[in-house]
Amino acid sequence: AVVGRRFVRKWRRRAKALAIVKEVEEKCATPIAKLRQVADAMTVEMHAGLASEGGSKLKMLITYVDNLPTGDEEGLFYALDLGGTNFRVLRVQLGGKGGGIVSQEFTEVSIPPKLMVGSSSALFEYIASKLAKFVAEEGPDFQIHPGRQRELGFTFSFPVMQTSIDSGNLIKWTKGFSIDDTVGKDIVAELTKAMEKQGLDMRVTALVNDTVGTLAGGRYTDKDVIAAVILGTGTNAAYVERAQAIPKWHGLLPKSGEMVINMEWGNFRSSHLPLTEFDHALDMESLNPGEQVYEKIISGMYLGDIVRRVLCKMAEEASFFGDTVPPKLKVPFTLRTPDMSAMHHDTSADLSVVGNKLKTIFEIQDSSLESRKVVIELCNIIATRGARLAAAGMLGILKKLGKDTLNDSEGQRFVIAMDGGLYEHYDAYSKCLEDTVAELLGEVVSQNIVIQHSMDGSGIGAALLAASHSQYLEG
Ligand code: BGC
Ligand code: MG
Repeated sequence: AVVGRRFVRKWRRRAKALAIVKEVEEKCATPIAKLRQVADAMTVEMHAGLASEGGSKLKMLITYVDNLPTGDEEGLFYALDLGGTNFRVLRVQLGGKGGGIVSQEFTEVSIPPKLMVGSSSALFEYIASKLAKFVAEEGPDFQIHPGRQRELGFTFSFPVMQTSIDSGNLIKWTKGFSIDDTVGKDIVAELTKAMEKQGLDMRVTALVNDTVGTLAGGRYTDKDVIAAVILGTGTNAAYVERAQAIPKWHGLLPKSGEMVINMEWGNFRSSHLPLTEFDHALDMESLNPGEQVYEKIISGMYLGDIVRRVLCKMAEEASFFGDTVPPKLKVPFTLRTPDMSAMHHDTSADLSVVGNKLKTIFEIQDSSLESRKVVIELCNIIATRGARLAAAGMLGILKKLGKDTLNDSEGQRFVIAMDGGLYEHYDAYSKCLEDTVAELLGEVVSQNIVIQHSMDGSGIGAALLAASHSQYLEG
């Protein structure tokens, strides 16, 4: 009888746990019809954001990039790429017409977590010191024109209201950064101040978002690049818009007739987005509640934590991991997306990767094969929702550009440059994203749309834009 009762209890718990997963699955469902609604909403918001400042949750920021690299860029340029937990500094020697990239070097530095929530000057001084050190190591493979000041493209991957190609004020932080005294300030002035303090004689000639850098870097090698998407810690997209389609732009019409727009799509939201109680809780407890809602369901900073939240509920309400709730399961961000990805891709017979992750991350000593399977299923649900919604966003851009259906430009190839750790490393995610884009576009149209991994294009792109906006160029 005791055995029987124990069995019944176990069986009930299991049913309860599976019911939670099932509910999450239903709430996260992204049937094609829903994705089309999301894409349509994205297109509508794009129009609204272009119409007037503050017209939409989508800021549709004017970048002052009205020309993309041509291949004629020439000389030595630096770039600084800040946007996640690491920053990169690089130098490239550009060969001019037909010369391409002659040489390049970079270094990557991680940002001490306390600097992400400290003071503006501490962050920028840290960055400037690493940059100065890197510049001091410049070798003979790199040549600056005699008498010239070194120039830098600054990739700053946060929403910035630009006032020119080389200045702009921080609108807000995202992705775990939170430094109040930087908000509203000119980012270039902040960096310049810090560089001067380091005795570093260098001028920022281009301030760009990582999406814009990726677009520029992509265009340098492929003239069909029309948009860029980042799927990393955070997410965002930029694309080339007709200047005449930007009612809020009151400046001169650029000669090219074009303007790159930084959408800041991470802040997109719509009643069509499938949100769960876990997303609401994550948002409420985040550094930026109510903001970056789309980002919080599709990007790398958050996916793992959504999974953790569901597992935590399963442990609390269905004793999914035994009689007590593993304490680590309650700690935000203990499950990082790379670990989620590793579990999701576990193909071993006994799912030992999942078992080991549960052990090392949550101190769950024993997990049954069955519960490991459920964990994978959950990773799949959350990753699939994110990837499919990202695909819907991409369809929204293609719709805005009129490239989602066959038209006169039939047969013409269009490239979307993609970058970011999530896209690069989470195979199930990127595969689902690509499949979904193809599914949404249909066979014929999707043949013309190419998704191109543009590896670390954002830094090179910034250096290229620094070159095309050099103080030593005429006109
Ligand atoms: C930022 C964007 C950035 C994106 C990808 C978002 O959190 O708001 O500016 O492009 O992350 O790095
Ligand atoms: Mg980046």
